[in-house]
Amino acid sequence: MGLVRTIYYCLKLRHNDKQHVGKIQRIQRRNLQRAVRYAKSHSPFFRDLYKDVDPDSPDFSVRSLPPVTKDDMMENFDSVVTDPRLNLEEVREWTRDRGKLGRMFKRKYIVTHTSGTTGMPAYFVYSRKEWDWIQALSVTRGIRYKPSFIDFWRHAVWVLFHRTRVALISVLGGHFVTYLLFLVTPKIARKLSRFEFLSVVKPVPELVARLNQLDPHVLHCYPTMLEILAHEQLEGRMNIKPWLISSSSEPLTPTARRRIERAFPKSPIYETYGTTEGITLASECHHHSAMHVNTDHYILESVKDDGSPVEPGQAGDKVYLSCLFMRTMPLLRYELTDVTIPLAEPCDCGLPFPLVKVRGRTDDIFWVYDQHKQPVALPPIPFEAMLLEIDGMRQYQLVQEERNRLMVYFRPNDDADPAEVQGQIRKQFDRFLHEKQLVDCLQVGIQQVEDIQRDPKSGKIRQIFSRVERLYLPGVPLGERRSGEDRRLARDKKLQGERRSRQRRTDEDEDEEGEEQ
Ligand SMILES: [Zn+2]
Repeated sequence: MGLVRTIYYCLKLRHNDKQHVGKIQRIQRRNLQRAVRYAKSHSPFFRDLYKDVDPDSPDFSVRSLPPVTKDDMMENFDSVVTDPRLNLEEVREWTRDRGKLGRMFKRKYIVTHTSGTTGMPAYFVYSRKEWDWIQALSVTRGIRYKPSFIDFWRHAVWVLFHRTRVALISVLGGHFVTYLLFLVTPKIARKLSRFEFLSVVKPVPELVARLNQLDPHVLHCYPTMLEILAHEQLEGRMNIKPWLISSSSEPLTPTARRRIERAFPKSPIYETYGTTEGITLASECHHHSAMHVNTDHYILESVKDDGSPVEPGQAGDKVYLSCLFMRTMPLLRYELTDVTIPLAEPCDCGLPFPLVKVRGRTDDIFWVYDQHKQPVALPPIPFEAMLLEIDGMRQYQLVQEERNRLMVYFRPNDDADPAEVQGQIRKQFDRFLHEKQLVDCLQVGIQQVEDIQRDPKSGKIRQIFSRVERLYLPGVPLGERRSGEDRRLARDKKLQGERRSRQRRTDEDEDEEGEEQ
């Protein structure tokens, strides 16, 4: 990639870090005006949508723009993009070919896609220049790590004379953005560091063995997987000492953070908020109180269902995202279903970027028993990646109904053959169970449904969730590690036993009485 350009962008971003809030707002406005002007003049879809929008009028703001949804963007993909040579059919075809991973589409573009959390995946196309922005944002703002004076020199000496070991645990194989971000990097970065890509689908013992061998300096992973690794470290099966840990793609809950911090007391954890649509949207500083939104290049509006803005401190129902450096595929006031809470108070670190808290969607980890009755953790992201491979599926929901029984509820596309879709799901799960050595102990049911059930409380679709409790409580010895559900089952059994023996005693007493008579 354009290394010189990436370095130039990094310097620009570092420069912005030192500006005051007013200056950042001016930079944001200028970048937004440029993006809108470009979209209006190069994209037929936006030319039509923005026919009444004048980015140069004094009262112009991001709220002058009508919002767009994923469906709007995908249905009109060919007229949204600003290069007429691009079309959805070819882009989709390209992402189906795993041999194309890390290569340039039409020698010019990088293509990514979402994992289709609300049904259909969305596709995004970036030029080299846009990708360089993304790289620069990830490098300078992804992890705002501030080591101590001693650590700084210790790490610097290491980087100069050795290679930094970076482990990325992710969904491999698909054109997913996190993976591509590490895969498509400047050559110098690959020379200075040794990147190890580990598939999140691998059995946990295998991952642990590889991580022990590698002992990475930097570990990047999903929070749900990090939690499982923290558990392995606490149990003594894993022993790694990363300089730092970063997490993205899912919200890092306070409980998860506490667990991870207990397992890796010397490794600071940095949470990043990014989506396929907006990579490195916000990230934590060393205060770890919330995340700073990169408002010089993104606009993140937390809004209510009707699109009106929320007050600081309140959770929005959704988010409008504007990505100000995107030109190939303009992304302006694009609706995301994430729940974010904008904060009004500034951070003590002095950065000019506002703070946000992200609630995002939370999928569950499934804890099941293997054939030896040992607990096995199944994180949600591999399931998501697996279900993405299914053609003709409109929506799905995966539920752990009982400890060792999962159900896949699916809704096929109108033009798809349901039996064929069901066959594909079955095949994927058969392979999964085989890989995890859970064939004889984990049941997977598949059912076609008219509609996917929404959570009665939030009204949102919970994609991957469990109706049973977790099988482990950190800090509790393995033998006593039982979930509430297990404890309830054990208590019920004991009660039944007591009732039975009481019954037996009463029967015997009656018999004895009878004998006496
Ligand atoms: Zn801060």
